[in-house]
Amino acid sequence: MAGIYIHIPFCRQACHYCNFHFTVSFKKKAAFQRALLKEIGMQKGFFRDVWHAGSSGAIGTVYIGGGTPSVLDVADLCHIFEQLGTHFPLGDVQEVTLEANPDDITMEKLISLGETPVNRLSIGVQSFFEQDLRYLNRIHTPGQAMESICNARKAGFDRLTIDLIYGIPTLSDARWKENLAKIPDLGVPHVSAYALTVESKTVLNHLIKKGKAAPVSDQQCARQFDILCGFMEQHGYLHYETSNFSLPGHFSGHNLSYWTGVPYLGLGPSAHSYLPGKRKWNVSNTSRYIDCVNRGSIPAEEELLTPAQELNEYIMTSLRTMWGCSLEKVERQWGRQALQSLEKKGEKHLRSGLMTEKMRHLVLTRKGKFLADGIASDLFSL
Ligand code: SF4
Repeated sequence: MAGIYIHIPFCRQACHYCNFHFTVSFKKKAAFQRALLKEIGMQKGFFRDVWHAGSSGAIGTVYIGGGTPSVLDVADLCHIFEQLGTHFPLGDVQEVTLEANPDDITMEKLISLGETPVNRLSIGVQSFFEQDLRYLNRIHTPGQAMESICNARKAGFDRLTIDLIYGIPTLSDARWKENLAKIPDLGVPHVSAYALTVESKTVLNHLIKKGKAAPVSDQQCARQFDILCGFMEQHGYLHYETSNFSLPGHFSGHNLSYWTGVPYLGLGPSAHSYLPGKRKWNVSNTSRYIDCVNRGSIPAEEELLTPAQELNEYIMTSLRTMWGCSLEKVERQWGRQALQSLEKKGEKHLRSGLMTEKMRHLVLTRKGKFLADGIASDLFSL
């Protein structure tokens, strides 16, 4: 089943490490919302070709991300769902996720959200410690992080995930363990945990270069990834994707569609879309997005994918999952030569213990998972 992603590009404060498209000015919020509703209508034929080609003709998941979608009023979200329902078949949707920041989700808002199609919340906690939140320049406090999780559960959101970040220079191993201990204690069934990365155009990179923020250490990231994997395994969470851990039955259906080659439509500035053989992405500029949509065109670029690019995409995404890269699928879809090349390139990682072969699947070991992207690019077909 297909997926729909909607990008809401507004945030109340700029996190120093952030590399997503967002703005802290809310001046164009109303104009953006009108443009988004218009784009939903303009994209109604997006899945037509795949559905005609026999793929399952329904939407399975909707994901509202950002930015900070929880800055929207519940009434605004309802307008988005109404418009989606007018133009897309939503009868089979199983999962509707809303990303939310802890400072936005009061009990009152959670109760109203419970009356919308939203049935899964993704809360941007990052850390339960003040020093880490200040290093990252997050707007919320540790108290708000705790309260938002407790309130979400009280309001009936059993499908809940939190984001955590490790490798923050202010985060000692002992404190990382304390952050992790909160997951089972608070009854959180799904976690996305990311290593802090310093992207070149971020405030954090600038601060580190000027000596005004402590640099990030690869060794700390590797150590804390190992602590993370051990802790989650001990507590019954499946490490089903490099950065994602879930109790059985709580996988993110939407993210699974990204990792398994299911078509998805991205709406809003900077949103990416995928159809077999084709990738598209909207302009990462909210003003230009609004202007173009108002003039009746969607400001997107697209790239046709060669079979080699499709294979590389498959290697990259499948190796990040616990199911691994299927050698049979590679042979069936890309041919015997592609399979032989993959097996040959994989030999050194099998020998070094970063990867194993299980039932004709290449699967990364715990050590390998931390290096997933580097190993995948070693295996790429040219
Ligand atoms: S809330 Fe998310 S999108 Fe917004 S600045 Fe922070 S990390 Fe970036």
